[in-house]
Amino acid sequence: MTFFTKRPELLSPAGNLEKLRTALLYGADAVYTGAPGLSLRAAAAEMSLNELATGVSEAHAKGARIYAALNIFARDADIAKARQVLPLLAETDVDALIVSDPGLVRLVRQITPEIPVHLSTQANTTNSESVRFWRDCGIKRVIVARELSLKEVGEIARCVPEVELEIFVHGAMCMAYSGRCYLSALRNRRSANEGDCTQPCRWEYLLHESSRPDEPFIVEEDERFSYLLSSKDLCLIEYLPQVLAAGVSGIKIEGRMKSAYYVAVATRAYRQALESLTQQKEKHLYDPRWLTELETISHRGYTTGFAFSDEKINETSPSVKSIQSHKPAGVVLSFDETRGRILVDVRNRLRAGEKTELLFADDNIPIDTAVMFDENENITDRAHAGSRIYLPFSTPVPEGTILRKRAVADQ
Ligand code: SF4
Repeated sequence: MTFFTKRPELLSPAGNLEKLRTALLYGADAVYTGAPGLSLRAAAAEMSLNELATGVSEAHAKGARIYAALNIFARDADIAKARQVLPLLAETDVDALIVSDPGLVRLVRQITPEIPVHLSTQANTTNSESVRFWRDCGIKRVIVARELSLKEVGEIARCVPEVELEIFVHGAMCMAYSGRCYLSALRNRRSANEGDCTQPCRWEYLLHESSRPDEPFIVEEDERFSYLLSSKDLCLIEYLPQVLAAGVSGIKIEGRMKSAYYVAVATRAYRQALESLTQQKEKHLYDPRWLTELETISHRGYTTGFAFSDEKINETSPSVKSIQSHKPAGVVLSFDETRGRILVDVRNRLRAGEKTELLFADDNIPIDTAVMFDENENITDRAHAGSRIYLPFSTPVPEGTILRKRAVADQ
């Protein structure tokens, strides 16, 4: 396999400051978050202006970049809000704004011309002429539609080399054309078009015959199309050589609403794979552990999506339930070298003796939980979510390191 000299930027989701710090700890080159009130994700995945300013300085201190998404489909009321927010965003020194609405693109270029603009995947850019159009509007990078194959992305990159291209390589896929869907708005009055999708496409549905309402059928067909609307999740970890060969400038992990654990594992796997591709002197050695690790985080089975597909349809999951072999037990708050112990913020109930491991930047190290101490230094045999415990550990552990356990432990 070819050795690549140009390494694309690895972008990780950062719905809040904790996830931003996690992404940086595990090797993201850049993070993206929501601009207050103007992003296509609910408030849970946005930062306030103060948090954004803190995030910018922390990212820059580590040599990373941070992008703020204003990718709503704007109404006039949103435009008015954008006029107020944009000058404040400029003061945070954010590295780029991610925009999808043409009106907002125009406004951003007028009010904050010094901030580079990336065109969101929500703009559904699928051809070179569209990329040229957006280039002429002042767009620096286009996050092309998820519905393109790598071959099509590569052709666009060759046709319009002056514009950076970015693609999603990992995360949830829509059964609709990238979020243009009213299912959630209809079912829950929470609209995907306003960043508040509740993902009802992945729920289990029953079919009722009107004359026999008490005898429902689960909607399932054959092996491939069991659940009509539930897409598998995208995963291109095994195909990064082809992704790099397409000439993209950025590869992105989806999931601003996902947990810090998800961010840690996904970022680490793709960072390690990128390092292998760009640092190997002779050839890229694919490590199956990258995919094994990605199997530990929440997903609905993996697919390569449209990357190699000539079929213009997505691949459905055989299950509506997400699969997850591990979950976070806690996050390390500090390391006490003198006493040889770590302080852990517990995220899921932990019992003494339960098998756990610390996720370091390059490997996992098992940690003994046979003896746990509560914050008052008393031995305890269980710790609940929200509590803090001390665990003996003699090697330095960076703050923010994830402690994980098997997901079946509590069942
Ligand atoms: S309901 Fe499903 S298809 Fe519709 S926007 Fe949400 S994730 Fe996409």
